[in-house]
Amino acid sequence: MIQNREKSSILLIYTGGTIGMKEDPAIQALRPFDFSQILAEVPELRKFAYKIDSYTFEPLIDSSDVDPLNWVTLASLIEDRYDDYDGFVILHGTDTMAYSASALSFMIEGLTKPVIFTGSQLPIGVPRTDGKENLISAVEIAAAKDSEGHARVPEVCICFDNVLMRGNRTTKINSDNFRAFRSENFPPLAEAGISIRYNDALIIKPADWKARPLFHKNLDTRVSILKIHPGITPQVAKGILCGEESRAVIMETYGAGNAPSRGWFLDIVKEAAGMGKILMNVTQCIAGSVNMDIYATGKSLKELGIVNGYDSTTESALGKLFFLMGKSDSNTEVKSQLYDDLRGEISK
Ligand code: ASP
Repeated sequence: MIQNREKSSILLIYTGGTIGMKEDPAIQALRPFDFSQILAEVPELRKFAYKIDSYTFEPLIDSSDVDPLNWVTLASLIEDRYDDYDGFVILHGTDTMAYSASALSFMIEGLTKPVIFTGSQLPIGVPRTDGKENLISAVEIAAAKDSEGHARVPEVCICFDNVLMRGNRTTKINSDNFRAFRSENFPPLAEAGISIRYNDALIIKPADWKARPLFHKNLDTRVSILKIHPGITPQVAKGILCGEESRAVIMETYGAGNAPSRGWFLDIVKEAAGMGKILMNVTQCIAGSVNMDIYATGKSLKELGIVNGYDSTTESALGKLFFLMGKSDSNTEVKSQLYDDLRGEISK
């Protein structure tokens, strides 16, 4: 495949995170530094013939502070500049990158250009940083086109440690290893070695390359997450499942979607379902899928109308719920759409 490098223009959006931090001796902790300093640390980027512009978040944020409003800002930035660039690279802290990439994947429908998240485990200014490799690969992938001039990867992705993953399939699995992210339930979309090898057959292409994507910026965040664990008490289960504030609850269950079979637990789930809440079953396992037909404990949940999250990550389930609930006031409608594979986020 021939890439037309001269024609590629990239918008780098710098939100914050370790990649752009340096030690502040006064507080003996990491603080964000200026974007121009980041580019100075990666002179290799100039060797590409791409036009690279940048946009810096003000203020810069540690991604632990990321909020759905930041996702709306990101979606708006991409929407406003969509026609001016061939691809978008988002520098983002690793802690919540999987949440942001998942949410953005749902918020942008019919994407025809790459939106690639990356960051690093070590600041870009330190000798053994992983930030340079990550940034260079992300930019190259965001600029890549096929022989017809279409984007090679028109998806929201995370590029980290030489692996390009579909954003809504990722989870942060390691806090100190360079392989910080995994996509256990879906193969990589590309791998960077001597060259970048794309798994073209797996990459989602838009129905119409010429159509502008739809940007969905209304998110309903009334979602709670209940992680099932041995020793869970009726008070805790009820507080989360039946809390007045939530419209939906993601239940992180054991294994193939199992939860305690004790009467009091099922009664609480029944009460929450009776309140009309959207209850979604995702597994705590890092790989594999929910199947509520295998064990009696899973079957009981299915009978109560709990939505099967299949092999969804929790991050993806959260983004999907925010997006679908923002689009519809009908819980019945949201429940039925949760079963659809909207952006390659589940395999059924
Ligand atoms: N706390 C940082 C952040 O998520 C960690 C990182 O970037 O790796 O912003």
